[in-house]
Amino acid sequence: MPRMEYSGGLSQLEACLRPMDQIDVRVRFAPSPTGLLHIGGLRTALYNYLFARKVGGTFVVRIEDTDRQRYVAEAEQDMLDSLAWASLDYDEGPKVGGDYGPYYQSHRKAHYRHYVDLLLAEGHAYYAFDSKEELDEMRSRLATPENPSPKYDALARQSMKNSFTMDQAAVQAAIEKGNPYVVRLRVPDDEQIQFDDLVRGTVSFASAQVDDQILLKSDGMPTYHLANVVDDHLMGITHIIRGEEWLPSTPKHMLLYKAFGWEPPQTAHLPLILSPTGGKLSKRNAEKMGIPVSVRQYQEAGYEPEAVVNFLAMLGWNPGTEQELFTVEELVAAFSADRIGSSGVQFNLDKLKWYNEQYLRGFSLEELQHRVRPSLAAADIEVDNDALAAILGLMQERMSFASDLVTEVRYFFDDPSSYNEKALKKRWKEDTPALLQAYMARIESADFTAEALETNLKAVAEEHEAGLGKLMAPLRIALSGVAGGPSLYDMMVILGKETCMRRLQKALDTL
Ligand code: GLU
Repeated sequence: MPRMEYSGGLSQLEACLRPMDQIDVRVRFAPSPTGLLHIGGLRTALYNYLFARKVGGTFVVRIEDTDRQRYVAEAEQDMLDSLAWASLDYDEGPKVGGDYGPYYQSHRKAHYRHYVDLLLAEGHAYYAFDSKEELDEMRSRLATPENPSPKYDALARQSMKNSFTMDQAAVQAAIEKGNPYVVRLRVPDDEQIQFDDLVRGTVSFASAQVDDQILLKSDGMPTYHLANVVDDHLMGITHIIRGEEWLPSTPKHMLLYKAFGWEPPQTAHLPLILSPTGGKLSKRNAEKMGIPVSVRQYQEAGYEPEAVVNFLAMLGWNPGTEQELFTVEELVAAFSADRIGSSGVQFNLDKLKWYNEQYLRGFSLEELQHRVRPSLAAADIEVDNDALAAILGLMQERMSFASDLVTEVRYFFDDPSSYNEKALKKRWKEDTPALLQAYMARIESADFTAEALETNLKAVAEEHEAGLGKLMAPLRIALSGVAGGPSLYDMMVILGKETCMRRLQKALDTL
C-alpha cells in the first residue's frame, strides 16, 4: 500500500483508503491505558501480531485514552514495555509513528467531532440533555420485573429531553446556553444486526437489545465505541482481533459503520480465558488462586518471554497437531485464524511453568547465563562466567526459573548459614562426624575430580562398614545446608576443595 503524507485533513486521508479487497491486511492492538497490561491483553496483541506477520500485513498499536477518568499515566508505558518484553514489534504506533497517526486517541479529538456532526446531520445521532437524576427517574419508571434495567431506546427516548422531544430551535438554544449534553446513536427500533465473525461464525443481535449508545460525552470526548469505529476506519483496519468481552459492543459498531456508509472490518473474537475452577478469569479470582494478572507480574516472577508467548499462543489457538513448542517464527508460519477456538480456555499456570522449564532447557549455556545474570545481580551475587557456566551445566535440566539459582541453590555462591532441621534429624547420626573426618582426611591429599571424590567416599564407607547413604546425605547437608540437589560429586568439584573443606569443618564444629 502506498505510503502517504498525513497532515490531518480527513478527506485527504479517506481518499487514500481503498476498498477492503484491495488493501493489505492491517490489524491493530488498541489497549486502554487504565492499568498494567493484563495477560489476556498480551494474548490479544500476540494474535494480532501473528496474524499480521503471517499474511505480510501491518500491525498497528493505537492507545485508546479518551477516558480521562480511568487514565493511568504509568499504564501507557507499561503496555509498550510489555509488548517490547514479548518482542511483539509493531509497524505503526506510539514512538514509531506511521502514516495514519496520531496513534493516541487523545490527540485525535477533532476527528471525532467531525464524524459526530456527520451522524447528527444525517439523523443517525441526536442530542440528549438529560441529567443523571432524569435518567435514574426514567429507569425506575420503566423498570419491570422482566426488564429491571431499561435502556435509553426508541421508547424511552420519547419521554426524555432530546432532539426527538424538543424542537430544533430549543435544542439550538440549549446548546448555545451551554447546557451539558451528550450525543447518542439512534438505534433502529426493530432490526436484526448480523455480521460474520471469523471465530464465531454468523452472529446476530436484535437492535431492540441495544441502547442508544452515547457517542460523545458531555466533556466533548468520544466514547470508546465512536472513537474505535472512526479510527479503525481512518486507519484502514481490515481485521479486528480482540477478546470476546467486546462481542456485545460489536452490534453498536456495525450500526455505526452502516450509518457512516463504511465497509466494516472483519471481526475475530478470541475465546474467554477461564479460571482453572471455571468461570471467567477475573483479576480478583486470579489473585485468589495465586495466578499473576499483569504481564509485568509474569516478568517479575521470572517467566521467560518466549515461554509466555508460546503458552499464550496455545491459549485459544491450536496448530491441529500435537506440537506444543513453537518459536515465534514457527508460530507465524503455523498460525491461522480458523484454528482459533470459540469456547473458553482454561488458564493453567502449571502448563506455563512447564513451558518455562522447556525454554530454559533449550537455551545455549551462553544464553542461559545471560538470562540468570539479572537475578544474580539483584541478589548481589558475583560469579565469573566460567564458574557460572559450570553451575548452569549442572542445573539447566533442573531449573524452573532463572531465579532458582538464587532461591534454590544459593549454596553455590555462599556458605550455608543454617542447616535444614528435618534433614539433620534424619541424617546426622552419632557416627557422622567420624565418617566425615575420615573422608576429609582422604580427599585432602587426593585429586579433586568427581571420580576421585566418589572412589574415596566408597573407600571410607567400606572401611567403616557403612552404607554410602550414611556418608553422602550428611556430606550434602554439611556442604549445602539442604538434603537435595544436583549430583553431589559434580557439585563438590564446582565448589572447589577449599570451600568444601571449610564448610565440612564448620559443620563438624557447629553440629
Ligand atoms: N480499548 C479497548 C480495550 O481496552 C479496545 C477493544 C477493541 O479492540 O476494540 O481493549
